[in-house]
Amino acid sequence: MKTSNQNIKPITTKINSNGNIEIGGCDLVELANKYGTPLYVFDEATIRSVIKSYKDAFKDFPKVNMMYAAKAFMTRAICKIMQEEAFGLDLCSGGEIYTAKSAGFDMSKTLFNGNNKSYDELCFALECGIGTISADNFFELALLNDIAKSNRQNIRILLRITPGIECHTHEYIQTGHLDSKFGFDLTQINAAVELIKDEYKNLNLVGLHAHTGSQIFEKQVYSDEIGVIFKEIRRIKDKYGIDLHEVNLGGGLGIKYTEADKPISIYEMAQTVTEALEKYSKKYDIETPVIFIEPGRSIIGTSGVTLYTAGSSKQVPNGRLYQALDGGMSDNARPSLYGAKYTVEIANNPNGVCDKKVTLAGKHCESGDILAKDIILPEIEEGDTVCFYDTGAYGYSMSSNYNRLLKPAAVLVNNGKSDIIINRQTYEQLTESDVIPDRLN
Ligand SMILES: *Cc1c(COP(=O)(O)O)cnc(C)c1O
Repeated sequence: MKTSNQNIKPITTKINSNGNIEIGGCDLVELANKYGTPLYVFDEATIRSVIKSYKDAFKDFPKVNMMYAAKAFMTRAICKIMQEEAFGLDLCSGGEIYTAKSAGFDMSKTLFNGNNKSYDELCFALECGIGTISADNFFELALLNDIAKSNRQNIRILLRITPGIECHTHEYIQTGHLDSKFGFDLTQINAAVELIKDEYKNLNLVGLHAHTGSQIFEKQVYSDEIGVIFKEIRRIKDKYGIDLHEVNLGGGLGIKYTEADKPISIYEMAQTVTEALEKYSKKYDIETPVIFIEPGRSIIGTSGVTLYTAGSSKQVPNGRLYQALDGGMSDNARPSLYGAKYTVEIANNPNGVCDKKVTLAGKHCESGDILAKDIILPEIEEGDTVCFYDTGAYGYSMSSNYNRLLKPAAVLVNNGKSDIIINRQTYEQLTESDVIPDRLN
């Protein structure tokens, strides 16, 4: 069965009686007029449908728990949806922890990840009642044990390991290959386990954690990963007599940005995972541990679109046609960071004849600020509402104030209603952290 990560558009997308694109029963041109652009629009039905697919796909395997990787897109409203859906949260900074806590999220269902968690962040995480910490390196183990000792507490930890698996995705979003900044190399696991066992008495090692990368299209990655982790669990049991009962497989399932992308469905992923769990439990003779998966992109990516208003254009003599939009690398860093490609439509002209090659440029003072290069669209007119699909993940969350552009608003749409979930930043907010030292006044 097809799942929403295999669609380019949110499931409620259609052309309405005004001849405009609508999502969640809301006309995109009306949304652009009402809230201004750039605007992130999130379709609640798509988010819920992906979540339902994950639950369905793993329902015969009760030992699987879902955590949403909040870094893909996090606001307090999103935390509420995840809480309602009984998902946990995978968090990777003090700011993400604060957001979850302040949304009233059940912190026992959170995991703290990251390759350089600070002392303050770790203290804050514990203060907030974080469920588990994925310990990434030797420095962190020592730091954590010190904090736990002075708090007279025991901390549940997973060891983040680097399984040595290459997934065929962009170099910047591979994480599980050997030359990675994340986690313990397989050759360092013994040393880490010995430290925990002999010295760091306040650390309670419950399992292993790996994450092989993002925008994964191949099933094989998941079964290879499970093979590596289960082999380590067996080895640790034999060598140290320690039973590890929890395994976090990370996230990474890909989505379809353009027709060229062919991600597997959530069901195919679940089947691969389930089969590999059975196979390797038998092979290594271990009781199947409790499994956690932490998808980010595949939960939120397809649900979100970005709306821009078309502004100036430039025809380079004998060269490209540039059409400028009112946002750019500050609201979507992915094209300039990874060369990411998107599917684009004109919300007020979805049926126009696609016969123009155009390069959609942002408004930043940077030649690399191109949102879509050489794509084929209908002729764009000034004032048109341009819709980029699949910007739900790593769009807002990577946004910046470069050139002092204001961070855009985000709305959640459902059944013809639109609700603000992030207000557009104001000029006052933009400058509120600035301080002018007295001597300059
Ligand atoms: C980023 C990340 C995820 C989520 O990855 P997606 O590709 O967005 O699903 C999950 N786990 C860890 C440890 C991560 O760093």
